[in-house]
Amino acid sequence: MSVDITHDFYNGWYLERSRGWALGLALENKLFEKQSAYQKITVYQTQTFGKLLLLDDIIMVTERDEFVYHEMMAHVPLNVHPNPERVLVIGGGDGGTIREIVKHPAVKEAVLVEIDIDVINTARDYFPSIASELSNPKVKVLAEDGVAYIRNNQNYFDVIMIDSSDPIGFAEGLFQADFYQDVYNALKPDGIMTNQTDSPLLSPMIVEKTYCEMQKVFQHLFMYQGYCLTYPGGYWTFGFASKRYHPLNDFDPKRAQAKGLKTKHYNSHLHKGAFYLPNFALATLPAT
Ligand code: SAM
Repeated sequence: MSVDITHDFYNGWYLERSRGWALGLALENKLFEKQSAYQKITVYQTQTFGKLLLLDDIIMVTERDEFVYHEMMAHVPLNVHPNPERVLVIGGGDGGTIREIVKHPAVKEAVLVEIDIDVINTARDYFPSIASELSNPKVKVLAEDGVAYIRNNQNYFDVIMIDSSDPIGFAEGLFQADFYQDVYNALKPDGIMTNQTDSPLLSPMIVEKTYCEMQKVFQHLFMYQGYCLTYPGGYWTFGFASKRYHPLNDFDPKRAQAKGLKTKHYNSHLHKGAFYLPNFALATLPAT
């Protein structure tokens, strides 16, 4: 997602517009709509991308391409950390990141803290292939504000993933240094945080600001890339912020392969390649 987004419906198409660029999805019909305590939740059946989840009319996931984003957010840190037993996801109420996390044999506890219970319920009802592991006994689902939750959990998690919506409204706090400091404190001494950090192509100012905030807290900070056809511009980035581990030097492809993870996108070559960035993306990173 990206801020400054507007939307439109045109002859059966959903159009998401951002900075002079637009993405269109051909719709079949609306399946669900509800104004929750936090946002408008809408589910459409599209013609070619499966079901589509919109929050306040902004694209969150489609069934067809969600796996790229969720696999990149989860498997990169979980294959760098040597023993990720306790994992936290903030946001991510669709369940896609959790589905990937529980594939890792070392994981004993995966906590999902999503502010909006209606997002979780909608995912369970309409996106069973994404929410499939929310009832896994290793998974604890909490409908709470992640900003408040993180303050009460110090030195506990091996990996924390911030699977958030745009830095506006109630999600804004998830992009600020105070929050990153609380994440830092909630991580064990060798913990790793990953987060979605928008598009350096369409939203370089947002990306720059996010990394500046992270740099105030984390000594080891990296950007890695992926793509998501249904996010603005398609080209997407993630942050890898760590207390100790390096995302390439501490990545052992043999150890990763031994887990036998079933993934549609992620593999060891992509893991490494994701950290080699184009110059326009590098230009959004703060000087070290
Ligand atoms: N992968 C998606 C993307 O980039 O479009 C994000 C999807 S996920 C559905 C984002 C979730 O973050 C939303 O369901 C939203 O309710 C949740 N969220 C936003 N602010 C939050 C907060 N302060 N605490 C917990 N969850 C939050």
